[in-house]
Amino acid sequence: MKDLIFSLIGLTAGVLFILALKGLSHPKTARRGNLLGALGATVAIILVFFELEKIENLGWIIGSIAFGLAVGVPAARKVQMTNMPQLVALFNGVGGGAAALVAIVEYLKHSEDMTVAFLIFTVFTVIVGCVSFSGSIVTFLKLQELMTTRPVVFPGGRFVIAATLASVLGVSVWVVQDTGTNPLLILAGLSLLFGILFVLPVGGADVPIVISLLNAFTGLTVAASGYVLDSTLLIIAGTLVGASGTILTRLMAEAMGRSLFGTLFGAFTAKPQAAAAADEERPVKSGSPEDVAILLNYARRVVIVPGFGLAVAQAQHTVREMADLLISKGIDVAYGIHPVAGRMPGHMNVLLAEANVPYEQLAEMDEVNPTFGQTDVAIVIGANDVVNPAAETTPGCPIYGMPILKVSDSANIIFLKRSMRPGFAGIENELLYDPKTTLLFGDAKASLTKVVSALKGL
Ligand code: NDP
Repeated sequence: MKDLIFSLIGLTAGVLFILALKGLSHPKTARRGNLLGALGATVAIILVFFELEKIENLGWIIGSIAFGLAVGVPAARKVQMTNMPQLVALFNGVGGGAAALVAIVEYLKHSEDMTVAFLIFTVFTVIVGCVSFSGSIVTFLKLQELMTTRPVVFPGGRFVIAATLASVLGVSVWVVQDTGTNPLLILAGLSLLFGILFVLPVGGADVPIVISLLNAFTGLTVAASGYVLDSTLLIIAGTLVGASGTILTRLMAEAMGRSLFGTLFGAFTAKPQAAAAADEERPVKSGSPEDVAILLNYARRVVIVPGFGLAVAQAQHTVREMADLLISKGIDVAYGIHPVAGRMPGHMNVLLAEANVPYEQLAEMDEVNPTFGQTDVAIVIGANDVVNPAAETTPGCPIYGMPILKVSDSANIIFLKRSMRPGFAGIENELLYDPKTTLLFGDAKASLTKVVSALKGL
């Protein structure tokens, strides 16, 4: 009877995870989905404590949970939206690392009575968990700009990666045939190295795809550790994360016009780029907030293109105020949303939802692109890579092949940014020098506030 009740509670947690994913598939229900997922995880954790007789090291477990809460809760609460992908990468890496450690501990415990299937799942968990851990740390360092965001390649890099992978596979066979601690620890070390080598060649603009891929890896590791620990719930949760992570990876690669192989290993075949001539002075047209207000005031259609800088400036409320003002003057206003604008999928949707921008004003890339030809003003607020024509015109550049918002088709382009610095991919944007472009330099929120007050005076 007790087993039946436990199974039913476990099943409930599994159903909560599935409902969570369903909720997360739409911005309106995402919050509820997130809460359902957290509830499922809480139920799953509490369930473990009802089988106290099976638990060893209770003090360590409670201490670890307390430590995790003390570090994780403030980190998640305090993190700026713009730094969220780094946090996701870290949490994801820790999950993969934890699954690998669990597999190593179980291996040490069961060294006498291991079946081949158990060994294969253990090897899989250790490899993929370690790759996910070290790879996620590198993505964190890249996104936090603690290391270069450009692809890191070195002579013979492909062969070093291939040799490391071959060694991982060779040692895996060794572990399955000759059970002992040393082969497993060597396997863990090689897998950690492979995780680093695997992510180093990925350029900053492609890092989100890799985070999502590593997330899928962690899911698979957790599912495999569910087999090792004989836990159905871990198998369900891990499979869900693995499957949804794989779908997200594919969607993001498509949104950026990349094949997954090209994302991971493209840097080895890319032609070296001529460095942007930093000191070369080229004329640009800059304007005042009043100039921008006049241009907007006499437009019939305006498309707002938000990007990472809007999030940095926290200008979402001010941009909405500007849009409302333009709409009240009878101007047709839409927001053009690029799928990878900002630093995480859906970043702009979340940001604009915070300012209660109505969903019907948001237009996805495929919907808005054909309308730029009839747009009088495209106002690009803190975006750069997602409108950079180099994605279409410069083969071999880090964003080549990524579909872009075609703001260059509109009659006038306004860029709000602080300087001539490039976007995340680190490449020059020719659009800044286009005769149709007016630059309004300054922090996006400060600039928009001035544009709004100038608009009110017209
Ligand atoms: P970019 O990083 O290309 O450009 C952001 C621009 O904002 C910069 O040109 C910067 O210029 C400007 N900026 C920064 N702060 C401010 C501020 N306070 N006020 C005004 N302007 C500011 O952003 P995009 O959104 O165009 O592109 C996203 C990039 O990030 C893509 O390369 C994408 O691949 C990558 N990426 C996307 C992820 C996702 O899932 N969305 C995740 C990780 C990476 P200046 O410094 O001169 O102000």
